[in-house]
Amino acid sequence: MQPAASTPQPAEAQVAGRVNLLGMSRGKLEQFLVSIGEKPFRAQQILKWIHHAGVDDFEQMTNLGKNLRARLQEIAEVRPPEIVSQKDSADGTRKWAIRVSGGGLVETVFIPDNGRGTLCVSSQVGCSLDCSFCSTGKQGFQRDLTAAEIIGQVWLAIRSFDAFTAGKDRVVTNVVMMGMGEPLLNFDNVVDAMSLMMDDFGYGISKRRVTLSTSGVVPALDRLGDVSDVSLAISLHAPNDALRNELVPINRKYPIAELLAACERYLARQSDRHRVVTVEYTLIADVNDRLEHARELAQLLKDFPCKINLIPFNPFPLSDCRRPSKSAISRFWQVLTDAGFVVTVRTTRGEDIDAACGQLVGQVADRTRRSERYRRGDGEFAEAEPVRLL
Ligand code: SAH
Ligand code: SF4
Repeated sequence: MQPAASTPQPAEAQVAGRVNLLGMSRGKLEQFLVSIGEKPFRAQQILKWIHHAGVDDFEQMTNLGKNLRARLQEIAEVRPPEIVSQKDSADGTRKWAIRVSGGGLVETVFIPDNGRGTLCVSSQVGCSLDCSFCSTGKQGFQRDLTAAEIIGQVWLAIRSFDAFTAGKDRVVTNVVMMGMGEPLLNFDNVVDAMSLMMDDFGYGISKRRVTLSTSGVVPALDRLGDVSDVSLAISLHAPNDALRNELVPINRKYPIAELLAACERYLARQSDRHRVVTVEYTLIADVNDRLEHARELAQLLKDFPCKINLIPFNPFPLSDCRRPSKSAISRFWQVLTDAGFVVTVRTTRGEDIDAACGQLVGQVADRTRRSERYRRGDGEFAEAEPVRLL
């Protein structure tokens, strides 16, 4: 695996013969406009049409002038990916299966909670990192999403609630890059999409409410600090390297101490000294949920600026992992809370539509046939199966 390297992008411009403006950050859109002989300030107008008003037809961009509208109609487009299905859970969670060019499917989930609306966005079709308890990892890696396909998930979600209309309360208040894929392995496109999420001419969401979750691609995390100041979440899942090597294989390359040091470097570059990293810890019965794990975790993180988010494991068909009992979760929580940490337990939302963390693969096509091999227990998956290993 090559951390931070991007796979070649299927250039949507080439596929459709037009440039897709949907995923262009303000800087890129300005460059594009200059390249066709227009003034850069037009970018702000176009961004507002696309991301504030939800307009995908240049004809409706009435403050642009006839000639520019006609020119854009010829050479450009605003093209979101295609929604294949939309499901609503009894608890208000909404999940979409989204088809991207080339045929891959990804999923996006909207979770309303106490006045907040959190959108969980995917960054890749599949994932190459193969964490042992994650259904996306079992699917294998297909390709990176383009910036248009990433921000397109936000655009489609807002449109599905008919919430582009001016004056309506904001529906998507928070974005978490916690859907399918490892965002730091699709660096440039994720950074462009996140800049649109935070841009006042885009979605105007504060950096505190845009969170990137990573399993720990350390060099890319350092690069992120150069260009962005979004909130950070790390998928730790184990209090020591021996156990994390099994659950999150990238740990063999970038062990815990290196990951935590990179997080501290990231925080040190932020102007706001009070920011913390969210440590995600998926609790798996009899794997990483014992009290000694909780104590070891408390020791590991005692000087690390963080809050801890415990995620009870969400089962999926090809996994032998189990969710711990409520009392086991609460005992784990208690140890960390007594040690002085702010600890939340992620409630499972949208279970009736398979929208919980790690269940996103759902009906997504398994192009690589890896899960079949996994079921048979041969090939690389015999080794990736946690229960056998631990
Ligand atoms: N690739 C990124 C972001 C996507 S996963 C990352 O790994 O951080 C979002 C979170 O859900 C991660 O913490 C991931 O480890 C966790 N997760 C994956 N599968 C899960 C499952 N089956 N049950 C509970 N959490 C899971
Ligand atoms: Fe990839 Fe994250 Fe799943 Fe690991 S947990 S396989 S990094 S999506």
